[in-house]
Amino acid sequence: MTEAIELLTSDIDAVAEEIRAGDRFLLTTHENPDGDALGSLLATHRILESLGKDSVMFLAAKEFPLPVEYRFLPLEEVFHEPPADISDRVVIFLDCGNIDRIPVDFLKDGDNKVINIDHHHDNTRFGQINLIDVNASCTAEVVYDLAGLLGVELTAEVANALYVGLVTDTGKFMYENTDARSHRMAAGLIEAGVEVNEIYRRLYEHAPLEKLKLLARALERIEVLDDGRLAVTNISSEDYAATGASEALTEGVIDHLRTIDGALVAAVVRDQHDSGRATRKVSMRSTDGRIDVSAIARVHGGGGHQRAAGFGTDLSYEQVVQFLIGEISSQLKT
Ligand code: 5GP
Ligand code: MN
Repeated sequence: MTEAIELLTSDIDAVAEEIRAGDRFLLTTHENPDGDALGSLLATHRILESLGKDSVMFLAAKEFPLPVEYRFLPLEEVFHEPPADISDRVVIFLDCGNIDRIPVDFLKDGDNKVINIDHHHDNTRFGQINLIDVNASCTAEVVYDLAGLLGVELTAEVANALYVGLVTDTGKFMYENTDARSHRMAAGLIEAGVEVNEIYRRLYEHAPLEKLKLLARALERIEVLDDGRLAVTNISSEDYAATGASEALTEGVIDHLRTIDGALVAAVVRDQHDSGRATRKVSMRSTDGRIDVSAIARVHGGGGHQRAAGFGTDLSYEQVVQFLIGEISSQLKT
């Protein structure tokens, strides 16, 4: 145990050292960014700026519009094209377990120094410096620790951004990754100015009607299969057309599927047209941890956490369902 903690301490020190020494940075996160990705991105950007660094945030143009929940985050400064001086910048990846989750080549092919800050257990450690804290509930928790080590006082804006990552990745402090550390961080963020109810309302109570209409269609066709172990639904291009909802409004549908009694795995298979490289995206949740959904995702080149993972695929919905049933059975046998 001490060995792991020592390693981690040296990793966080190495990142802090690199940040203190560097001048220019480019920050980015994974495709289809969620609350932790965007919150960690914005917070790290402001932390670097407060240290007097030149920082730019980058997200591919295809990620816009962002999921409606996160649009209140002040992300107007995000670049959609590489800055001219990209070769002189240290690149920091946040919440990104795998370099293939970056949809642009310039971040994969460049010879920039790469810092990788994440909490996914299956992170491929693609950076020169890897700060991977698998015990952190969210990447925002790692950024929070880093800010403390760097002696940066948190502004309300940074605290809000980190709180978005914390709330969304812990399922409002209810998933199994929630512990005393995440609650201590919440207390620190509230002291720094987070208005809890304001953030809650922004995240969960500013939904456009189209989002609920899309949810209704997705819920209406839930299938409970494999003796109740799998709850799955499909969101198709026709659903986007019929409801006027964009793909970005699918965020959160899976949280309803996971509530079904007896389900071990919840899955949402959605057609991707605006934001995807594959035809479909499969999101999965393991309700009680008996099934490792990240192992299922890896079969098709995806990944994530044991209890929350995903992958892109060109398989049909029916083929995905058969694949999931097969994987669940084989995990239960071993
Ligand atoms: P979501 O279902 O909310 O999109 O993602 C759940 C978790 O799985 C997140 O931790 C996310 O980073 C991870 N994840 C989702 N899709 C992919 C993917 O295509 N590749 C990898 N490596 N991880 C994914
Ligand atoms: Mn995360």
